[in-house]
Amino acid sequence: MATTAVEQKKLLINNEWRDAAGGKTMDVVNPATEDVIATVASADRSDVDAAVQAARAALNGPWSKMSARERGRLVSRLADRLLERADEVARLETLHNGKPIFESRQIEIPAAAECFEYYAGWADKVMGETIPVKGNYFTYTLREPLGVIAAIVPWNFPLLLAAWKVAPALACGNTVVLKPASQTPLTAIALGEIAIDVGLPPGVLNVITGPGSSVGQAIVEHPGVDKIAFTGDTSTGKSIMKSAADTLKKITLELGGKSPNIVLADADLDAALRGATTGIFYGKGEVCAAGSRLLVDRSVKDQFMEKLAARAGKMVAGDPLDPKTRYGALASKKQLETVQRYVETAKREGASLVAGGSRTDIGTGKGYFFQPTVFDKVTPEMTIAREEIFGPVLATIEFGDLDEAIARANDSQYGLAAAVWTRDIKKAHYVARKLQAGTVWVNTYNIYDTAAPFGGYKASGFGREMSAHAIEHYTQIKSVWVDLNL
Ligand code: NAD
Repeated sequence: MATTAVEQKKLLINNEWRDAAGGKTMDVVNPATEDVIATVASADRSDVDAAVQAARAALNGPWSKMSARERGRLVSRLADRLLERADEVARLETLHNGKPIFESRQIEIPAAAECFEYYAGWADKVMGETIPVKGNYFTYTLREPLGVIAAIVPWNFPLLLAAWKVAPALACGNTVVLKPASQTPLTAIALGEIAIDVGLPPGVLNVITGPGSSVGQAIVEHPGVDKIAFTGDTSTGKSIMKSAADTLKKITLELGGKSPNIVLADADLDAALRGATTGIFYGKGEVCAAGSRLLVDRSVKDQFMEKLAARAGKMVAGDPLDPKTRYGALASKKQLETVQRYVETAKREGASLVAGGSRTDIGTGKGYFFQPTVFDKVTPEMTIAREEIFGPVLATIEFGDLDEAIARANDSQYGLAAAVWTRDIKKAHYVARKLQAGTVWVNTYNIYDTAAPFGGYKASGFGREMSAHAIEHYTQIKSVWVDLNL
């Protein structure tokens, strides 16, 4: 399997590449080979401080004097340059995450570029209003940037989830400190290179690498940060919310999920089968919106499970860099161990393993590969029905009627996404309204578009990413009153 030479990467502060002040570095591992593929600077508090100061100074520099349209043009150039470098950036995404190059190159890097393109178009369309108040006043609103945005992102879609935050933040005139996950910093660093390349002024986009517990925490506590845009684990989200309270930061949280994928008896079962498979195994199940709870009508369950198990058994892990591979390596050893632990728990609690369940490899004896895994006979109180595994493990629960399906689907602390498969249009809309989730797919799964909002109900967080709605989370409103009395 091909690997790259070990590269050394630095922090991006004020358009300069700098070593961490404390001289520390951390290794980046390719989860498909277990090789160290790069070392990156591991920042400390003084680096965070320098990045925040650069971002704050940039708010008063050329960035704020630029017209909204010029700003939009720069954001659009980020998209263009990203697409020009798409082969190389996709390769980095696959190398540090283990996802198939097909997913990185054909889906996720183009989606990140599209996100920059979409918000580039918004830059000069962020408007205030005039308000018909009582009295002789001219009253209007200005929609202004929030200031310094800290974007803290996880390791499963490293560049795409960064784009969801950086693109609207920049388009609205904010400046950004981006902190990628420790495991997957390389594409955020590439985005930093692209930012310099296209001419973003110094300090507008800073990239700080290092552990979440120290660097992430320092960012969250920093009084110079105006807003935290976070995607990650629900427990981290809770801790960020508490820490951010001290400095009254604005926050948006995109957190975990345990999304139900409901198959009604009248569904096109072949289509539902494909949806159940991609719903859990795309991205090795390391997907916040993964359809990790499959709810199937009792009357069709046995035939459905037989086909599903056969389908999962045919999905074989491959070299993530091979364009034909559709199933890669889990992102880290830690994640592999988490998945193994949940599989053992499921067996112990009495779930029935019908596909996968073990670590595997691709003939090299290396890599954090795990078989696509399906459990049947899962009951709602079992651990794998309740906790987010964040891996390729499907928990199947049966139901008897529509109301039971809805009750089981909503029986979760999470509410990120859900799906229903049915040929009955009335049932489809009925279920869509009843489900407690930020996204509901009908007869499809895992479809996203920059124009459509995405975010959680319940413990899956708050705020919406993408779409026009994200603009509200990167701007604030000022009311201006002008006395017109002569
Ligand atoms: P994580 O919470 O461990 O880490 C996410 C980011 O936060 C990383 O950059 C990490 O370094 C940083 N971090 C960790 N502790 C921190 C702290 N105390 N203060 C500030 N920053 C800190 O999550 P993860 O393991 O990287 O990602 C997996 C989780 O992300 C899953 O729960 C998944 O569901 C969730 N996720 C949600 C969405 C969504 O849109 N809702 C999308 C993808 C992933």
